[in-house]
Amino acid sequence: GEAKISGDRYLFYTKQMSDRVTETLALESSLRTALERNEFVLHYQPKVDICNRQLEGVEALIRWNSPQFGLVPPLKFIPLLEETGLIVEVGSWVWRRASRDYADWLAQGVFAPRIAVNMSVVQLRRHDFVSTIAALQKSTEESVEIDIEITESTAMDEVADSIEKLHELYALGINIAIDDFGTGYSSLAYLAKLPAHVLKIDRSFISTMLEDPDKMSLVSTMISLAHSMHMKVVAEGVETQDQANMLRLLRCDQMQGYLVAKPMPFEQMTAYIRNRELNLDP
Ligand code: C2E
Ligand code: MG
Ligand code: MG
Ligand code: MG
Repeated sequence: GEAKISGDRYLFYTKQMSDRVTETLALESSLRTALERNEFVLHYQPKVDICNRQLEGVEALIRWNSPQFGLVPPLKFIPLLEETGLIVEVGSWVWRRASRDYADWLAQGVFAPRIAVNMSVVQLRRHDFVSTIAALQKSTEESVEIDIEITESTAMDEVADSIEKLHELYALGINIAIDDFGTGYSSLAYLAKLPAHVLKIDRSFISTMLEDPDKMSLVSTMISLAHSMHMKVVAEGVETQDQANMLRLLRCDQMQGYLVAKPMPFEQMTAYIRNRELNLDP
């Protein structure tokens, strides 16, 4: 009867929950050795001009190539790295890997697009955040151009601290993008104080704007707002030509998304750049 069914359900849920705890513990312990075993990889996703599709930059997106779990997406392990503090070391690895890849493009003589790396709130909040970045920057070739993406919610968490540190990064010549914009609840007064060069509109707006007039007008407002603050606008997660056409009408500057290309390993990104230089892939 009723009671038995709900009883089973209860058992079912607790079993699932304890499985999840077990899985988390297993992930956590193997994450500790992942860095020394060189199991992290960076994939790159292009950002292109919305009008002529010129390559404007790439975003570095981390994956964990685990012998036990396969290719693990970042949302499955970044929170664990943050909880354990390992994100600080992994974040420095991401910067060094991206710098080496950029230098590799220079050495190969292919066009080297600027690389943007994502920064965790845990990294930004540390006292030594800026000096760590400055040291990383100093240890790489001068011509290497690495930018930083910080989510809107990270920037707005302890906003005074963010403003101060982003100004220091700006002074180091680092371009800053506010990522996943529209998902937090920014005060415009604070947004204007952030020395950011780029506003990235979150995918949730792009994927719904053609069906939802409210989303569309928000996208339009975000683009005008960013332009009034002399920021460039990147639309995230563009998947259809209709979305791209609308964004072009709305004067969005750049787009990123499966319509253009999915994130890809370094070698594939290099081939992608070469093919574009040869005009094989317009
Ligand atoms: P993000 O920085 O907003 O990156 C965009 C995410 O959207 C990526 O997911 C990308 O693969 C995905 N994406 C791009 N275009 C499309 C599209 O057209 N459709 C759909 N459905 N998805 C698209 P990914 O690689 O799984 O990364 C997820 C998040 O993990 C990133 O969001 C970023 O916040 C975080 N992350 C990735 N790499 C790093 C890292 O090195 N350090 C830190 N702290 N966070 C990272
Ligand atoms: Mg990003
Ligand atoms: Mg984003
Ligand atoms: Mg996002």
